Amino acid sequence: MVNPSDEIKARLNVADVLGEYIKLQPAGGNFKAKCPFHQEKTASLMVSPDKQIWHCFGCGKGGDIFSFVMEMEGLTFPEALRLLAPKAGIQLTDYRGQDNSRRNRLLDALAEAGVFYQKQLTANNKLAEAALHYLRIERHLTDDMLNYWQIGWAPNDWQMLSDYLRRKGYTENELLLAGLNSQAATGQRFYDRFRGRIMFPWHDVNGNLLGFSARVLPQLDDGKTGKYINSPQNLIYDKSKQLFGLWRAKAAIKEAGRVIIVEGQMDCIMAHQQGFKNVVATSGTALTEDHLKLIKRYTENLVLAFDMDQAGILAADRAIALASQVNMNIRVLRLPAGKDPDEFLRQHNQDWPVLVEAAPPIMEYYFQLLRPQLVADKVESRKAATKRFLTLISKLSDVVERDYWLKKLAQVLRIEVQLLYDSLPTNQPTTNQPTTNQPIKQLVKNRPVDLFLAWLIRFPSLLDNASQWLEPELLNSPTAVQIYKNLIVYYNKKRLTAGDNLDYNDLLAWWPADQSGDYLNSLFLLADKDLAETTIEQALIELPKLTRLIQRAYWHQRLSVISQQIAGLEKDKSLSDDKRELEINILMGEAEELSQALRTLDN
Ligand SMILES: [Zn+2]
Repeated sequence: MVNPSDEIKARLNVADVLGEYIKLQPAGGNFKAKCPFHQEKTASLMVSPDKQIWHCFGCGKGGDIFSFVMEMEGLTFPEALRLLAPKAGIQLTDYRGQDNSRRNRLLDALAEAGVFYQKQLTANNKLAEAALHYLRIERHLTDDMLNYWQIGWAPNDWQMLSDYLRRKGYTENELLLAGLNSQAATGQRFYDRFRGRIMFPWHDVNGNLLGFSARVLPQLDDGKTGKYINSPQNLIYDKSKQLFGLWRAKAAIKEAGRVIIVEGQMDCIMAHQQGFKNVVATSGTALTEDHLKLIKRYTENLVLAFDMDQAGILAADRAIALASQVNMNIRVLRLPAGKDPDEFLRQHNQDWPVLVEAAPPIMEYYFQLLRPQLVADKVESRKAATKRFLTLISKLSDVVERDYWLKKLAQVLRIEVQLLYDSLPTNQPTTNQPTTNQPIKQLVKNRPVDLFLAWLIRFPSLLDNASQWLEPELLNSPTAVQIYKNLIVYYNKKRLTAGDNLDYNDLLAWWPADQSGDYLNSLFLLADKDLAETTIEQALIELPKLTRLIQRAYWHQRLSVISQQIAGLEKDKSLSDDKRELEINILMGEAEELSQALRTLDN
């Protein structure tokens, strides 16, 4: 049988896979995008559908669909395999035994539990019937929606799920780690965590079931445990990183160019039932930076349909600061007083799009909210509201926007704007520092070598007498040397003639299995990116220049090595004076030759 990762790569397109995370812009036959792995303003990540690879020229990261998903989702290889297999229409069941991480085991257990609960909802007993009745009649959910969201029922029993999953080969400990059972405080006994509850599964954006939010059946509610209990935060379930419904909403969000965030999962489910599919829910947690980053893969436009008045504007500075930080547009949807989205959607379905369209930007929203206090007769009230609004203004990272609101506030208060500037809280937002890490430096240092090799890839006939350009050993990294040598060998073996292009796939099939593959990929993309429109005449002008740069760098480096060696010899007491002098002389001779060569190069 074919290796599953090869099979997956053959069936999936690199542009489709990356396109789920980042916005790709066509660039020739390739795509460009802003890199999600470092902060940048211009797009320097290239994606090549021909070659099925990607590479970022800003931070140096690159590879295939697996490396991208692993980096993006923080997964191991088997986990990325699991994520991509269903997208490629491949069953991984045969590989479970050999290739499994703990995370995959837990996800499997959770998926089994989800199916179990779903089946229980239609079981033939009184409580299950009551649960189904509650969902259909009191929550107004259609059977289609119950299936679509995989809503289930946890029987009012201490062992049923545990027994079921143990028979499937899962251990008590795995069920504990998956948040499916609990351990009695006294002793060893395990028992089912969820009993007599309606089960709302939480999925990650890829549709993996991560945990549950469980609502007690009203007739079993003894008032002692919460109306809702959730899966505990664990290895895989973290509410501050997940949004309810995103796996169902992501396509619609992209299409609409906008996401609507509600608080309750019931609100979210009802929105989808009413045909508004770009809706997700935070479900009882505050909006986090992780949430926004997740959403930013799909859109930069966000509409909050929260109960803002009641939550006060406490959450507002947070939301404004977050949005400023990740550079997103946040609007606030205003529902008629006393209505939650669930109810509103059922009763005034046709008004929802109108409200969404009319949602003001979040600063405008708070300005209007505070306006009555800002113009109130009482000085205290004016002061408090002014202070409040100034705090919000101070969270804005955009100077122009900050200026706009200060002027607007001054107008309403009928005071000089300068007074407001002076009383602006000093907690200025910290601008995001670009992450400086090793790959960036390395790439910049390698640039002439990269370009040199990229030109040879662009015009392989120049490999014919490549050694007239540059000795391979002069390239500054072992990988570059290896690539240069391999290209020459490949060229001679294939007897390419002038005008022939390098066949990427053929080359790759021939390429020795070593670490140089990623670097080679980046060189191919560099050739596509910067050299696509060039002629061989330009190559013949540029290559000698690059050769000189590379030689100079190499000789400089060699010179500094020599001076270190000489310094070392001078301190070395173990050598006889004669011997030391001889070795130093040899080195000084080489240094002199190098200096001479460098001077010639500079002339
Ligand atoms: Zn990057």
